[in-house]
Amino acid sequence: MTRRTAIGSLATIGGAIAISPTLLSGMVSEDKKLGVALVGLGNYATLQLGPALRQTKVCELRGIVTGTPEKAVNWQKEYGISPEHTYDYETFDRLKDDPAIDIVYIVLPNFMHAEYTIRALQAGKHVICEKPMGMDAAECETMIAAAKKAGRKLQVGYRLFYEPHHLQMMKWAQEPFEGRIRLMETSLGFDMARPGLWRIDPKMGGGGALMDLGPYVIQAARRAAGQMPVSVMAQGYIDDPGLYKGIYGTYAWQLRFADHTVCNSTVSFSAYVDRYYVAKGNQFLELKPAFAANSKLTLQDRENATTLPSAEFQQATQMDAFARNILDDTPVVASGEEARTDMRIIDAIKESLKSGKEVDIPR
Ligand code: NDP
Repeated sequence: MTRRTAIGSLATIGGAIAISPTLLSGMVSEDKKLGVALVGLGNYATLQLGPALRQTKVCELRGIVTGTPEKAVNWQKEYGISPEHTYDYETFDRLKDDPAIDIVYIVLPNFMHAEYTIRALQAGKHVICEKPMGMDAAECETMIAAAKKAGRKLQVGYRLFYEPHHLQMMKWAQEPFEGRIRLMETSLGFDMARPGLWRIDPKMGGGGALMDLGPYVIQAARRAAGQMPVSVMAQGYIDDPGLYKGIYGTYAWQLRFADHTVCNSTVSFSAYVDRYYVAKGNQFLELKPAFAANSKLTLQDRENATTLPSAEFQQATQMDAFARNILDDTPVVASGEEARTDMRIIDAIKESLKSGKEVDIPR
């Protein structure tokens, strides 16, 4: 095979963007829209999901669940939501009698994900639950079982499963050009820890940056490798003992795969980092920034750097894909099982932090 750069190779392997046409077009007619209710009107719902729902084609915002009456009034005005589709945490279960709502989207702090996902499924609704799906793999298992029992679909809010540049990274990593993938680095961090933030409370967040940012970098490594890692060795660092209690500020780990591929990852609430790097032979492909929503992503190999425009709201593609899965009765790509797989790796990272040893990851 003649030498080609990574970006050049992508151009020749069938066009840059490898997104499945069924993800984007689907088989359903565009005039049937499913109704979405957002649960928990915090930053993510306000800055990303609400605006994204103005761009969706197969679903639309019809309901809200909030514990803050002023937010209810503001959202009703902003999005034309009627009081009959407005709920709080006490009236949440009444969603079962609201036929306008097909999908309930849980955007609450992590410790509330399992409870509200299961209650929404029991109310007969399809559910999108934000990452991390549960507090551990066992909780994810319970949520998957609840969806099966209710006969409803469950998606985890993995917007990057539908992001074209991420699909491009995976495609390059797995194509035989330049041999096998050997080394990866996937990292994400922000200076964001502040006193009182639920994310740094172990009972509410479940483990700081590991739970908040771990799912992004773990799924990227696992999907580029096209296989599960067999073991992990983890380290934790605390740069501010007054702030980090019962969690680390920065987590680092190495995932080892059966074919000797290695992935180094760091997640942090103390410093900024955002990169996804895959190397094989003397070639590499890197996306930087890689995981933050709505950034202009720069894809780089040894010879080229291409700044790629990002979709304005990745979440619109993610939510439309789920609505099509419901209408067409097709499998969910960002499924509960995918989230459970990542939680098994997070559980193993926690075990390694406790024992100081390399830990096998269950299949
Ligand atoms: P916020 O803290 O900004 O919002 C959480 C909201 O949950 C609150 O505003 C509140 O809404 C509601 N809530 C109910 N009970 C509580 C409680 N006990 N403590 C705090 N809030 C409560 O968090 P985010 O919006 O940033 O994150 C929410 C979820 O979304 C998290 O699981 C996070 O991991 C995920 N997320 C995912 C992203 C992605 O890219 N996929 C990006 C960012 C976040 P109300 O007042 O309406 O009741």
